[in-house]
Amino acid sequence: MNQKILVVGSSNTDMVIKAAKFALPGETILGGEFFMNPGGKGANQAIAASRLGGDVTFVGKVGSDIFGRQALQQLTKENIETRFVIVDHEYPSGVALINVDSKGQNCIVVAPGANGQLQPADIDHVLSEVPQENLVLVQLEIPIDTVTHLIRKTAELGNRLILNPAPAQNLPNELFASIYTITPNETEIELLTGIRVKDIGSAKAAGSKLLDLGVQQVIITLGSQGAYLHTSSISKLIAAPEVTAVDTTAAGDCFNGALAVALAEDMGMESAVHFACRAAAISVTRMGAQQSIPYRKELQQR
Ligand code: ATP
Repeated sequence: MNQKILVVGSSNTDMVIKAAKFALPGETILGGEFFMNPGGKGANQAIAASRLGGDVTFVGKVGSDIFGRQALQQLTKENIETRFVIVDHEYPSGVALINVDSKGQNCIVVAPGANGQLQPADIDHVLSEVPQENLVLVQLEIPIDTVTHLIRKTAELGNRLILNPAPAQNLPNELFASIYTITPNETEIELLTGIRVKDIGSAKAAGSKLLDLGVQQVIITLGSQGAYLHTSSISKLIAAPEVTAVDTTAAGDCFNGALAVALAEDMGMESAVHFACRAAAISVTRMGAQQSIPYRKELQQR
């Protein structure tokens, strides 16, 4: 029996305006196309895990507004259990305002809104209601106290937790011993360890630093190169399939959702990283965030 997957994290609505240039302070300019997309690392990773075959429950907070309702509808449409998503009546749903200029550069401001109100007590409530046996996946777009509490409680229950430490921020050293798998990218591993990963040697050194702090498995995602897996018994680069990338948005989210599915299915660690690399490689061949995430059958076809 596969383990259930509990994804705890953010849900946002991305509002994108394309314009020839960015507005300067005090300036108003006319832009071009406008579109809205569901996003947030938590929701993206939950959708990846569900499309790739996981039995997923999402835990997060949205506002009592149209964006929150749409986010919930989207998650439900993706076969994700949403009964633990709390509707906050005081704070609005999280939004990201994204401006894209003619060179394709972007400028993003995120208002976390209700995401920033997910409290440790909310986690206690969820953990008392969900089945004891589950695999937890969490990122850093919700309050750090809540993440810390979740990590400790999950370890106390004897469950496995994957921490995707994004966006990059420092974590208390004593927390690492409660983490089963951590999945930093190059920027995040540098912040966590002080080591700039530029080759296999430095990846190994950075991974070892986190193993010494008590993490069981370190997976450093390395963009088009793939991912470096470092545990007490394995230390190797798992190469990414060669593809023509058109948009890498949410590649990391796809990788993490896929990894959770593979671990919930008890694939070995190396096979799990291969599986995640294959899923993420498909996602970079397509435009967009959630819309680029593949379904399980697409991996089986390759
Ligand atoms: P993002 O912020 O774009 O979502 P990230 O910085 O969190 O990504 P990356 O290391 O860039 O994470 O990418 C995550 C994974 O996606 C990589 O480990 C790799 O497996 C896959 N990937 C990313 N870019 C490519 C690419 N050009 N070709 C193949 N696979 C890729």
